[in-house]
Amino acid sequence: MAKYDFDIGVIGGGAAGLTVASGASQFGAKTLLVEKEKSLGGDCLHFGCVPSKTLIKTAHVRHLMKNSKNFGLPEAALEPVDFRSVAKRIQSVISTIQKHDSEERFCKLGVKVEFGDAVFADEHKVNVGGKSYSAGKWVIATGSSPAAPPIEGLDSTPYITNKEIFSLDKLPESLICIGGGPIGIEMAQAFNRLGTKVTVIERGGQILGKEDSDMAEQVMEVMKSEGVVFHLNATTVNTKDHGQEKEVVLKSKEGKTVSLKAEKLLVALGRQPNISGLGLDDIGLKLSRRGIEVDTRLRTNHKHIYGAGDVIGGYQFTHAAGYEGGVVLTNAILHLPKKTNYTNLPWCTYTDPELANIGMNERAAKDAGIEYSVWIEEFKDNDRSLAEGEEIGRIKMILDKKENPIGVQILGPQAGNLISEWVAVMNGGIKLSTVASSIHPYPTIGEINKKVVGSFFSGKIFSPKVKKALKLFFHFKGRGCDI
Ligand SMILES: Cc1cc2nc3c(=O)[nH]c(=O)nc-3n(C[C@H](O)[C@H](O)[C@H](O)COP(=O)(O)OP(=O)(O)OC[C@H]3O[C@@H](n4cnc5c(N)ncnc54)[C@H](O)[C@@H]3O)c2cc1C
Repeated sequence: MAKYDFDIGVIGGGAAGLTVASGASQFGAKTLLVEKEKSLGGDCLHFGCVPSKTLIKTAHVRHLMKNSKNFGLPEAALEPVDFRSVAKRIQSVISTIQKHDSEERFCKLGVKVEFGDAVFADEHKVNVGGKSYSAGKWVIATGSSPAAPPIEGLDSTPYITNKEIFSLDKLPESLICIGGGPIGIEMAQAFNRLGTKVTVIERGGQILGKEDSDMAEQVMEVMKSEGVVFHLNATTVNTKDHGQEKEVVLKSKEGKTVSLKAEKLLVALGRQPNISGLGLDDIGLKLSRRGIEVDTRLRTNHKHIYGAGDVIGGYQFTHAAGYEGGVVLTNAILHLPKKTNYTNLPWCTYTDPELANIGMNERAAKDAGIEYSVWIEEFKDNDRSLAEGEEIGRIKMILDKKENPIGVQILGPQAGNLISEWVAVMNGGIKLSTVASSIHPYPTIGEINKKVVGSFFSGKIFSPKVKKALKLFFHFKGRGCDI
């Protein structure tokens, strides 16, 4: 008789949990998936990637309409935005994708789905509502929530986060965004483009603090030119509720006190792991400062309990959660010892222009004390970018001293898609000469990938040494024009 009800139990039906549950079941393991919300999909589908990218597209269309003259078109009449229609479109995209993450689909894959809060009763047993389930292995994939930092007055000032922002019933006239990270910045640009007056408060000296400052500054310049106001090096002192208006008092680096008021306050100050209420203390599960503590094989201190996704507090992206789900599967189901490796993890901030990254940027290379060289191409020199009216941005390729790529950053149109070529190059160990000699279609924005590699090779190919050798062998006569 089986010792446990299930071979594996997964807590959390988001990117990480769904990856483990579907994979485990397809490998033949009896799988339980517990989700506390009424539907599967997690933050990415309901309050994260999907609604934000849908909103960003709508805002982009309005931005194009506003700038129709730049494309040789008559000025478009811009009616005020009815946010209920925008929210409706967002919901319709979510519902379409939801079908892929439905209970029925998972049931067809063989997964038993149970809705309710999961609480560990012991190291192998979890209570959900009035029921109790045991499993040989457990995976905690409960995600993260918006962090609520200890700002004076914030607990008595109504504010919104990513949980509310996509279902507002009205476009706010004004919005203060506390936090200049990817979530805040994407939302700030989108709402500004829809017609909201947006102000961003950032504690650090640059927005998008993980990125190289030259790239982040260009994003900020674009947003400033569109009307977003920034307060960098600014500490939020307190917040107050004045009914129709919310007030934020901040202190600048120079010690100046500034008071800002807006209809809505968006708090985008990072994420906290969803660990409370799971009974983790009762089973002695070790936590780190960032969330559930795991080793490189994603095992907790109880080796049969794994952690994956935002809850472990590493790279908080959907594709990272999916990757970690795969690592858990390999270890827990296939019993193959697989460790995580984030060296070539890409990411993208979906501002316009987008800012995508893979591997090390200049700052990371400097911090690691690595000898490196940087190769840059500008989008203003890409024919297709000019045709598209998308000439802001650049690609930066970082090479180590052996001239192998250790990182690429792209600020520009479709940067998130363009970085995929580098995903293949860096993961496949593809030589730069292969990229340089491969044919890219013309005119495409993607040609910039080949061009930056070309700029690295051109100095070597057209060198005085090569010219001298060719002259010797073929008696070339040199320049035909001397201007
Ligand atoms: C506004 C925003 C935009 C984003 N945009 C992007 C993007 O463009 N690209 C990208 O890669 N990432 C993006 N992210 C990040 C991405 O959403 C997360 O990294 C991803 O959702 C993490 O997946 P997960 O499986 O760890 O957690 P989640 O998807 O949050 O899933 C966790 C699940 O666990 C459930 N749960 C929690 N506690 C319990 C419990 N006790 N019992 C049972 N179930 C429980 C939750 O209800 C949830 O469904 C964005 C995030 C936000 C907030």
